[in-house]
Amino acid sequence: ESFANTPSDYILPNLDNSPILLRSNENPYGPSPLARAAMTKSINSSNRYGWNLWSELISLIAKKNNVLDNNILLGAGSTEILDLVLQHAALNKGNFIIAETTYDYWTAPSGKLGLKKVTIPLTKDKKHDLTAMLKAINSDTKMIYICNPNNPTGTICDREKLVSFINEATQKTVVFVDEAYINFTTEQSLSNLVIENKNLIITKTFSKLYGLAGARIGYAIAHPDTIEQLSNLKSSTNMSVSVVSASAAIASLNDEKFTQQAYSSNQEVKKYTIDQLTQLNLTCIPSYSNFIYFSLDNYRKDYFKQLEDHNISGTKIYEENGKWTRITIGTMKEMQLFIAALK
Ligand code: PLP
Repeated sequence: ESFANTPSDYILPNLDNSPILLRSNENPYGPSPLARAAMTKSINSSNRYGWNLWSELISLIAKKNNVLDNNILLGAGSTEILDLVLQHAALNKGNFIIAETTYDYWTAPSGKLGLKKVTIPLTKDKKHDLTAMLKAINSDTKMIYICNPNNPTGTICDREKLVSFINEATQKTVVFVDEAYINFTTEQSLSNLVIENKNLIITKTFSKLYGLAGARIGYAIAHPDTIEQLSNLKSSTNMSVSVVSASAAIASLNDEKFTQQAYSSNQEVKKYTIDQLTQLNLTCIPSYSNFIYFSLDNYRKDYFKQLEDHNISGTKIYEENGKWTRITIGTMKEMQLFIAALK
């Protein structure tokens, strides 16, 4: 079976009876061919610590983001960075500001750490309400989280507005921008702003476009002083990334062919899926990511039963009002099966 417009070295999934995984915004094509080869090779040097590899990876990441090596901190997935930033915010008790609805699993420990969560509703078009978030800052605010593009809604902030929000908000508190999905867009990272700004922390990951969710590699981009503060919350800097994962990340950054194919396949399959959902009279939010946020308000069957019957793993209802759910963009074949399951 040939799948049009998918990376050529992709190992086809779902040829057995395993479920179609459209739940966690993973890359259906990866890891990249170069990453696979690098991982296989690096198994042989896994008896050694990865000092040189970690340095090499940090330099590559820094170059890619137009910053210096001391602006980067590696983590075992960006989840480790999210945890560190939460701990950092909690050093002095207070509150943090976050949108409702956004990526918020990582905030689960916030109460135990002594941080109060202040939620700000999204705008009608499911975007961050930067004006309201700015207004919500008070003298107890330790951090504001902006997921850009936003998970689960797939919306993106207007760059100029976000930059002026950051300039204003960081005079009072830390702004934490999660760019897990930024490379599914043509937007540039805000990385260069950290050079001058100690109160801006950015996180990125290899889990999405680079197809390395299971390998666990992410990183923070921040001012060197801020990187040091985050590092000081751990016993050892950068050591949570294995030699195998670091070599996969290095190879992925050098595998332009794979990332370009994954990017364009995502664009094409996203367009197909949105067109099909729209034909089914289901409202979709325009997506700057590898998933689609859509409303089940007009859907007459039992959506979750349809998925189950067709061995498809989706996710939950995020907002009862409008019955909004999210679906990850898989391969074209997977999305054809998804649409067939809904019909
Ligand atoms: N940030 C966002 C917005 C995410 O959606 C996810 C995972 O889905 C993560 C961070 C965590 O990813 P990881 O720890 O794999 O880098």
